[in-house]
Amino acid sequence: MLAPPPFMLTTGPVTAYPAVLNAMARPAVYDGHHAFQHFYRSVVGKLQAALRLSSLPLILQGDALLGLEAAAASLIGRKDVVLNLVSGVYGKGYAGWARRYASEVIELAVPFDEAIDPERVREALAARPDISIITVCHHDTPSGTLNPLAEIGRLGRAHGAYVIADAVSSFGSLDVYPEEAAIDIFVTSAAKCLGATPGLSLLAVSERAWERIKANPDAPRASFLSLLDWELAAEAGRAFPVTPSLAEIHGLDAALDLYLREGPERVWARHARTAAAARAGLKALGLQLWPAREAIAAPSATVFRLPEGIADIRLRDTLLERYGVMLSLGRGETAGKVLRIGHMGPAAEPMLAVTAVAALGGALNQLGRQADAGTGVNAALAILSQASSNHADSNGSSREVAHADPA
Ligand SMILES: *Cc1c(COP(=O)(O)O)cnc(C)c1O
Repeated sequence: MLAPPPFMLTTGPVTAYPAVLNAMARPAVYDGHHAFQHFYRSVVGKLQAALRLSSLPLILQGDALLGLEAAAASLIGRKDVVLNLVSGVYGKGYAGWARRYASEVIELAVPFDEAIDPERVREALAARPDISIITVCHHDTPSGTLNPLAEIGRLGRAHGAYVIADAVSSFGSLDVYPEEAAIDIFVTSAAKCLGATPGLSLLAVSERAWERIKANPDAPRASFLSLLDWELAAEAGRAFPVTPSLAEIHGLDAALDLYLREGPERVWARHARTAAAARAGLKALGLQLWPAREAIAAPSATVFRLPEGIADIRLRDTLLERYGVMLSLGRGETAGKVLRIGHMGPAAEPMLAVTAVAALGGALNQLGRQADAGTGVNAALAILSQASSNHADSNGSSREVAHADPA
């Protein structure tokens, strides 16, 4: 078996919090007993609090791609015209599902180091009043770039369209809530910034989207893609469509406890500080960030361009073998052009950005480049020396709470 790297700084899967792993070993609960219904209802309640929803969220058993596909299958009907916003690999990929169900899919694309401009969304909607659904990826992880989700949500709502958002790698790392952003189907994962394991899709569905799904004769029923079936499970914790993935649900339960106890603002601050330190350190090393502007760089992943003449696998393996640091490769259009440092869940710890920068300095020298590791480390440390923008530091307890085991 592969030994786990000492520093797992990937963009997913991430190392789960120890409390999550402990919870996953809890004994089975029989789903035909009310004890299970009570437990499941409490997990749904915690997720509802984390998502700040007025209605019940859904938990689908399958990693986030299941939730994304189920959203398309349930909401998009044969007469729909879909506007798919593309700023990266995941956004582009959504068209595959949209085309399966819609009458037409219109693409609005920007270069993959850029973000969607709401003004262009407004123009696209004005040009095609028949657009009924908008699909968008909030944080396109292979690029490390953020789209202005709330602005897009409000434009969609004003147009009378429904918005499906992939918030898989953003939720839990920054201030985003489905209802505030006017998103009709908001899909996230337990396995990215919440620091649990891959296996569950977490969905928020608006009231108006439920009405539409229930009126859509093509929406799947008695299927893994059926949001209607998973809704029954969320409501009652019974009529469970399949045997519950107990270990995953227990892990999610513990991850939500950690998130709610540490406090979302503190969790976001950890992600933001870690990413800011990584960006400062990389720039001081002479590396170039992939996002065209730092304003659109995500707090949960820092993506940088490979220096001329250094292959991605070579740099990744040098980082791993010499320094014990695992980074992610690019994906799709960014494959072979970038490496990515994940700051998700337990990896969103500012000192880990310093570790990544130090290792990169070492690895670049190893590969014959003149990189000043000390300059990089100092630039990253300078971010850590600044006071945090929230109360996490003055209180002093955020770190302790983040890694505490509630059991
Ligand atoms: C990780 C991720 C997904 C989900 O992919 P899985 O293969 O199901 O883990 C979807 N969208 C984005 C933006 C992601 O980062």
